[in-house]
Amino acid sequence: MAYQALYRVWRPLNFQQVVGQKIVTQTLKNSITTDQISHAYLFAGPRGTGKTSCAKIFAKAINCLDSQDGEPCNHCENCVAINEGRLTDIIEIDAASNNGVDEIRDIRDKVKYPPTQAKYKVYIIDEVHMLSTGAFNALLKTLEEPPAHVVFILATTEIQKVPATIISRMQRFNFRRISAEDISEQLIRILDEKKISYDVKAIAVISRAADGGMRDAESILDQVLSFGNDHVSLENALEVTGDADDQQLANYLTAVFNQEVTSALQTINTLFANGCSANRLIEGIIELLRDLLLQKNDAQLLTQLSYRQLADNLIAAAKKIQSQQLYRMIDMTNEIQLQLKNSAHSELFLEVMTVKLANAATTTTEVQAAPDNSAEVTQLQSQVAELKQQITKLAKNDSAAAEFNSARTTVTSPVHKIESKVSHKQVYHVLENATKESLTAVRDVWPDLLSKLPPAKRAMMKVSQPVAASADAIVVAFTYEFTLRTANTDHELQDALKSELNSLMKNEADIILVQKDQWPKIRKEYIATLHQNKSDSSSSDAQPVAPKQPTIIAEATKLFGDQIVKVESN
Ligand SMILES: [Zn+2]
Repeated sequence: MAYQALYRVWRPLNFQQVVGQKIVTQTLKNSITTDQISHAYLFAGPRGTGKTSCAKIFAKAINCLDSQDGEPCNHCENCVAINEGRLTDIIEIDAASNNGVDEIRDIRDKVKYPPTQAKYKVYIIDEVHMLSTGAFNALLKTLEEPPAHVVFILATTEIQKVPATIISRMQRFNFRRISAEDISEQLIRILDEKKISYDVKAIAVISRAADGGMRDAESILDQVLSFGNDHVSLENALEVTGDADDQQLANYLTAVFNQEVTSALQTINTLFANGCSANRLIEGIIELLRDLLLQKNDAQLLTQLSYRQLADNLIAAAKKIQSQQLYRMIDMTNEIQLQLKNSAHSELFLEVMTVKLANAATTTTEVQAAPDNSAEVTQLQSQVAELKQQITKLAKNDSAAAEFNSARTTVTSPVHKIESKVSHKQVYHVLENATKESLTAVRDVWPDLLSKLPPAKRAMMKVSQPVAASADAIVVAFTYEFTLRTANTDHELQDALKSELNSLMKNEADIILVQKDQWPKIRKEYIATLHQNKSDSSSSDAQPVAPKQPTIIAEATKLFGDQIVKVESN
């Protein structure tokens, strides 16, 4: 039998099986037992939280011939027909694909005919916010006077895009993000049933990465299981999610608190080497800092709110850190996280962050009590010192790359197997025409784009990030070689990416995939070729435009903004 994705196999069949939405399911059951069924429901909440599942269970329960306490029996003729998707009285419409007015007009024409077999005709309209204005108006007409035998269930992940005139006519249910604890319980149920062993820590990592979505959690678990071995190991879970190992994170913060910057930087490098993504790393650090704050103020609350257990070495090191300092560290880390979104130089930012955090750990109460601007000056001074260091480092790298490059006749020297698949010419062409505006535009729609992919493909693309964009092509970097390899051979995925991108940006761009750790090198080589081209034939107009500033300064300006970077010539 072909492998079926977990989220399909584990779709809940009754309200009791729905994970993490007790209030919603209880209210729905009550409305059935007390016979107070409304004609229009709006299910709103993040994706993967059970909206469509609940809609189907509700459709079953109100049509079930043997319903008990508001639950469908799943055995009667109607229940079985609905479960098998062959009851024509249950009409599912995906507004994301049928957003035409015609579809809704069709509802208006057919809604007056009574159901053929069931008691109620149920229209489930998924992603209803995708309907066009015309379609919404047509729907509104139907909702104003719904026939007695019809129930509408509209589901949406973006309630703010649903017109108020529609919302006011519906009974609204808010689906919450599912807690990591509830997700873990469900994953364990699945694994126990499948008789697959697991590392408890791996389950915690998956639950956290799923960010409140059961479907995402199941899809990540699918990915981890695809590693084989019939065991869910922490190592594999960390690899798939790009998450940081808890103990390593604790070691990092412990080193920061003890001002052991070198050791903290080493831990960061190890985490990167293990495939942890910069963003997950920062999230992990923020969560840990928050947990420490809770632990200082209310240890009881910590056990309720957090899924991590604080490591002993970290608790000991945090004793000398005050709450005020922790607040400041959280602010700093948040700020770096925002900057990180627009940069390909994540490691650099994390290094700067480490120095800043260690600095904040030394700051005494007296200094904090001083006027704000003096603290700011101290901070700026250290920032400038760090910047100088980083710029020197960049300068070294750039000249090394240039030297390396000029010593060779061609630029295609595949150090890495995967790199050879990427045509440097293609990438260089994008870089020649790349603009920050294009990249920002692509990054803006990237999360939307990923949310439209099928779950398995989405999970794969979660470890990717657009790193450069021109008007007609985009370079996307992957954290792991294995996901890059899969993506490179998955034509279905590439087509889906292109068409979603086209529909979101009205732009038919090519998508080029590269490996993240190769990316800085490819870029440097490109810059080096610019230098070379320039000195080879500076008179030719056909040459690409070389950067106006020296690359190191241009790079630094891109990273930190031109207000901070000043050019001093000695
Ligand atoms: Zn039934």
